[in-house]
Amino acid sequence: MVDEDIKLIGKDGIRRDGRKFDELRPITIEAGVLKRADGSAYLEWGENKVLAAVYGPREMHPRHAQNPSRAVVQARYNMAAFSVPDRKRPGPDRRSVEISKIMSEALEEIIFVEQFPRSSVDVFVEVLEASAGTRCAALTAASVALADAGIPMSDMISSCAAGKIDGQIVLDLGKKEDNFGEADVPLGMVTSSGKITLLQMDGNLTLDEYKKVMELAMNACREIYQIQREALKKRYSTSLEGYEDIEDTEEE
Ligand code: ADP
Repeated sequence: MVDEDIKLIGKDGIRRDGRKFDELRPITIEAGVLKRADGSAYLEWGENKVLAAVYGPREMHPRHAQNPSRAVVQARYNMAAFSVPDRKRPGPDRRSVEISKIMSEALEEIIFVEQFPRSSVDVFVEVLEASAGTRCAALTAASVALADAGIPMSDMISSCAAGKIDGQIVLDLGKKEDNFGEADVPLGMVTSSGKITLLQMDGNLTLDEYKKVMELAMNACREIYQIQREALKKRYSTSLEGYEDIEDTEEE
């Protein structure tokens, strides 16, 4: 939907939040933030705040839902009631069911599900603060949490959206841009192989515009992948430092 009264890009080509067309909002990721989960990650992406927790592989319940030849990936995306300016009605809705489904399908592409028959890998994502792009934030955080849990998988998924606002192609739409822009295309990609695991589109684009959107989003995924890797490196280098301390104490 285009609102003629709302200008999203200034004459200098700068967006309302000060970003250039190809700039991401700031992203920080911390891995291993929850003690009781097998793996976890906390991600901040602009004004989005997302927590991901992974459990499993563990015996799938209910048993009749088990698959005898592979694990089932059960992702659950949930937005907290306090995550948006107007209180969100708690509990699942059409949107959260949709996002949970696309997340499960994307994550099944990277996890070696054949290694764990009759099991489930459960991924919970809680959106604590939401400001557009939460499905990409959720998938990015979930991938780090899966790696943190040591779940056998081919690689992580990195995810980012690009779209069209004020007739121009831009990366990583913010809340106003999402509301008043012309198109939004969330993308999830395994950067090492180039495999696309999530692709949705809201709005209309020409073929040329679509190609530009894909190029922007794919480049951004490569950038996000590095942030994901750094989060894991930091998590495990910290653990190792702690381990060395214990060894030193034992020797004394
Ligand atoms: P995404 O968060 O992946 O961009 P949408 O395009 O469906 O998904 O939503 C865009 C944004 O709209 C969300 O990030 C959130 O800020 C807001 N939003 C979504 N659902 C609600 C809701 N039920 N109440 C208030 N705001 C919402």
